[in-house]
Amino acid sequence: MNQDKGPERWANDLSILLTQAYGPNRFPVDVSKLARDYSQQVFPEEPITRVRPRGFEGFEGALTPKPDGSGEWGIGYADSLRSKGRVNFTIAHEFGHYLLHRKKYPNGFQCRPEDMVWWDSEYNRVEAEANRFAAGLLMPLNDFRTQIPANEKADLDMLGGCAERYEVSLTAAILRWLTYTQKRAILVVSREGFILWARSSEPAFKSGAFIKVAGLPPREIPAASPVAGSPGAVGIAELKELSRGTWLDEPVVEHSLISERYDLSISLLTLQASAPAAGIGDEVTDDLVDILARPMFSR
Ligand SMILES: [Zn+2]
Repeated sequence: MNQDKGPERWANDLSILLTQAYGPNRFPVDVSKLARDYSQQVFPEEPITRVRPRGFEGFEGALTPKPDGSGEWGIGYADSLRSKGRVNFTIAHEFGHYLLHRKKYPNGFQCRPEDMVWWDSEYNRVEAEANRFAAGLLMPLNDFRTQIPANEKADLDMLGGCAERYEVSLTAAILRWLTYTQKRAILVVSREGFILWARSSEPAFKSGAFIKVAGLPPREIPAASPVAGSPGAVGIAELKELSRGTWLDEPVVEHSLISERYDLSISLLTLQASAPAAGIGDEVTDDLVDILARPMFSR
C-alpha cells in the first residue's frame, strides 16, 4: 500500500499535512524534524532516529539501517556540505529513499553528488525518484507557482529569492522552476570554463533548444559568455544579450552567477518566446530561408 506510492504522491501527501499543521506560509520545511517525527508516528517499528552530519568522503548523503537489528534508521549528510540548502536537499533525498525504497534496499543507500542532479533519469530511476520527492517536499509546485507564475520570465534574482524561501540551493530552485515554466530557458552549470551539465525547460527542449554534454568531449563555454570573460569575478553578472551562434542557433539572454565557494558557475539562458525553428526540422527551415531570401537575390 504505502510502499506503492510514487515520489510526487508522497511529497504531496506530506505537504498537505504540513499545511494543515502550520498554515500555507510554512516555509522552509524543517525536513530533519519531519523525517524523525513522521517515521516515528507512521512506522514505529522502523523509525528514523538520527539525522546528523558525518565525515563522508566521495558521497553526500546516506540512509543506513542501524546495525544492531533494532529496525531503526539513520540519515547522514556530508559534513563538508557548506550550505544549508544542500544539507536540506540531501536530507530530503535520503528521506525519499526511506519512504520509497527501504523495503527493496534493506542495506540502505550511499548517494554521490551526481545522484542529486538528475530528476528524470531512466537509468538511475531510484535516484531520480528520491530527487523528485525532495523537490516536491521542499518546493511544492502550488507554492512555487505563486512565487513565479508559469507564464512569467524569471531571472537569477527571482530564483534566488525562491532558493531562500525554501532554503534550497539556487541550482535546485532553478531545476524546479524548469519543470513547470512555459518559458524557453536552459540552465548551464560549468566549472573552470567547461560545461558540466545543462538542463532545458520542456518548451525549450521540445523546440530543439538544448545543450548536449553527456558522451561528448569536454565542451568549453562560449568566449562571449560573462562566465568565460571574468576569471576571478564572483557574484551575479549583468544580463547579457548574446547573438545567434554563441550558445545556440538563436540569440539568448544570459544571466550568470559565478560562485567562488563551489568553484561553479551557473548560467541561466533565456530564449525568445518561440524558437526560430519551433516544430520545424532544419531542412525545412533552410528551405524557408531560401524561399524568403531568393526574391532579394534574384534582382
Ligand atoms: Zn540517493
